[in-house]
Amino acid sequence: MAGSKAVQKEVKEFMTGLKRRNPHEGEFHQAVQELVETVMPYYLDHDQFRKWRILERMTEPDRVVMFRVTWSDDTGTIRANKAWRVQFNNAIGPYKGGMRFHPSVTLSVLKFLGFEQCFKNALTGLPMGGAKGGSNFNPKGRSDLEIMRFCHSLMTELFRHIGESKDVPAGDIGVGAREIGYMFGQYKRLENNFVGVLTGKGLEYGGSLIRKEATGYGTVYFAQNMLNHIDDSVEGKDVVVSGSGNVATYAIEKVLHYGGKPLTASDSGGSIYDPDGIDEEKLEFIKQLKEVRRGRISEYAEKYSSAKYLEGKRPWGVKCDIALPCATQNELNADDAKELIDNGVRVVAEGANMPSTLEAVHHFLDAGVLFGPAKAANAGGVAVSGLEQSQNSLRISWDAEEVDGRLQNIMKDIHAKCVKYGEGDGKVNYVAGANIAGFEKVAAAMVAYGVV
Ligand code: NDP
Repeated sequence: MAGSKAVQKEVKEFMTGLKRRNPHEGEFHQAVQELVETVMPYYLDHDQFRKWRILERMTEPDRVVMFRVTWSDDTGTIRANKAWRVQFNNAIGPYKGGMRFHPSVTLSVLKFLGFEQCFKNALTGLPMGGAKGGSNFNPKGRSDLEIMRFCHSLMTELFRHIGESKDVPAGDIGVGAREIGYMFGQYKRLENNFVGVLTGKGLEYGGSLIRKEATGYGTVYFAQNMLNHIDDSVEGKDVVVSGSGNVATYAIEKVLHYGGKPLTASDSGGSIYDPDGIDEEKLEFIKQLKEVRRGRISEYAEKYSSAKYLEGKRPWGVKCDIALPCATQNELNADDAKELIDNGVRVVAEGANMPSTLEAVHHFLDAGVLFGPAKAANAGGVAVSGLEQSQNSLRISWDAEEVDGRLQNIMKDIHAKCVKYGEGDGKVNYVAGANIAGFEKVAAAMVAYGVV
């Protein structure tokens, strides 16, 4: 039935209704369209899901909390930001998903992220529902004390909506170990309760080893699984990476472990291209630059003469075998996809959430590129967050080897699910595979509850 006129008509009608109900939410429309295009044939073939109107119910969040965050900056000026928590779906476990602090955060962005999170979390095999939250607060250039006051104020409202068995937030863009520490500290103070209510915590107070590496490592594990499936590997491949934050840094690290050659990194100012490759020492420089000094990636090109700084540019013009978009949504468009394909790219694994536009995804699939969508390829982060929750509940800490081993198994398992649901004509459509596998699990749980 896939691709048939009847399916296309159903997709169009469904999307028309969704857009009418959710006007001006472009990112959310895009995320739903991407899922519905591949899930609709399966949905139409499964009466038990259609009868219960699962798709219609699944695209409406369980609840959205919107609130004001008031704080004072270092000059004593009072500031007010918007913040949200989108609790999308808890059919298979407590809500779980990161918090994002960035001026581009809107309800539409958080709804797209929360929606995606439902299926990603289902793919991990762990009992986690989908959520996302954040604020339009811009942490750039703010002092530690300003960040602390903001985080404390945000948690003063958020604490009443979350809980270890209710909703467990984590980090995302602009929210790293520092911000999680401030939020966790305030939660603990308000509730007088030391529980694993946030993940991405410091190791001293309940964090998990490998959590900060998990998303980047997991993305490369997924790329490795896709290549192994066709008897190939990351070894010896030229790899283009965007971003220089948490996900990008550890993706670069795992590419190095696997004998690949990372060539680029970027931030919102531009990209660096190092034809000699980013080695361990240069990667350490990036970590210090971004995690400690919070500087700009352009400084890399000032330090290493082998590198060029491409001001205001993304790295997709650099010739490569593997592309790992690890910065933000819609950072890779149709033209970028065509350029990558013309330059011979064979694998794309999304470390960021929805970094490729719908048109770009279609180009990759049509060209036969092994395309690992975010839901599958970057699920390693939330998977280790789930493992952090398990360790907190058991009041134990696993060593790095144990957590990394579990992460590798989870990524292998997700790959196998994508193959199971996405294989046809001797090829694997990882987008269809991830969407259908994730959808089926959440849908089956929703059916079990009846009409709620
Ligand atoms: P960080 O804040 O650590 O890093 C984000 C990186 O992306 C920075 O290099 C940043 O540059 C760049 N960036 C952000 N916004 C833009 C923009 N509008 N244009 C160009 N570059 C931009 O975030 P993470 O690494 O944690 O997250 C990156 C992506 O991965 C996001 O899509 C996130 O949702 C996704 N993700 C993260 C997970 C995690 O565990 N952290 C888990 C799963 C997905 P600059 O410093 O200039 O802003």
